[in-house]
Amino acid sequence: MKKIVLLHICCGVCASSVVERLRSDGFEVVGFFYNPNIYPSQEYQRRLDTVAVVAKHLNLQLIEGEYDPHHWLSLTKGMEKEPEAGARCEVCFQMRLEEAYRKSMELSVPYFTTTLTVSSHKDALIINRIGSEIDDKAFLLYDFKKQNGFKKAMEFSRQHLLYRQQYCGCVYGMKLQVEG
Ligand code: SF4
Repeated sequence: MKKIVLLHICCGVCASSVVERLRSDGFEVVGFFYNPNIYPSQEYQRRLDTVAVVAKHLNLQLIEGEYDPHHWLSLTKGMEKEPEAGARCEVCFQMRLEEAYRKSMELSVPYFTTTLTVSSHKDALIINRIGSEIDDKAFLLYDFKKQNGFKKAMEFSRQHLLYRQQYCGCVYGMKLQVEG
């Protein structure tokens, strides 16, 4: 099977070291920015613009998924007060991974994975479990924060003066950040 992977990208900073890691493992990478969780739309656009800058630097093909925040809000209804890394985040991971899988099938790309595990705030075990439950043959298990993945992403962002967001993405995470 050809080593092509559809990489779900949560943000440009995270994508930088992950794309390099996958390429060093012999994969051809197609980027897929799909994050209807991001609030507000101005923040979504800012993160998308940053991913586009990174894609240009890395000569990466980039596809934008649909930005449908209403869909995300309906899936997470009743979970507004969940803490970060709680049940709402699992639903949020699941939604994004399912769409990445659907897109990979549509494009006949044999593998899919996500940049989400590069974050030191995110549990790779949970993300890898969700990806494997969707399709354990197609999902590539990684913990991208390993092998200095997070550190390399930070270095790349400093070197290229990239925008770095102050909260995970959704309106509830943003409120927690503001309330401190
Ligand atoms: S905190 Fe982050 S992962 Fe959790 S629900 Fe919000 S955007 Fe999704």
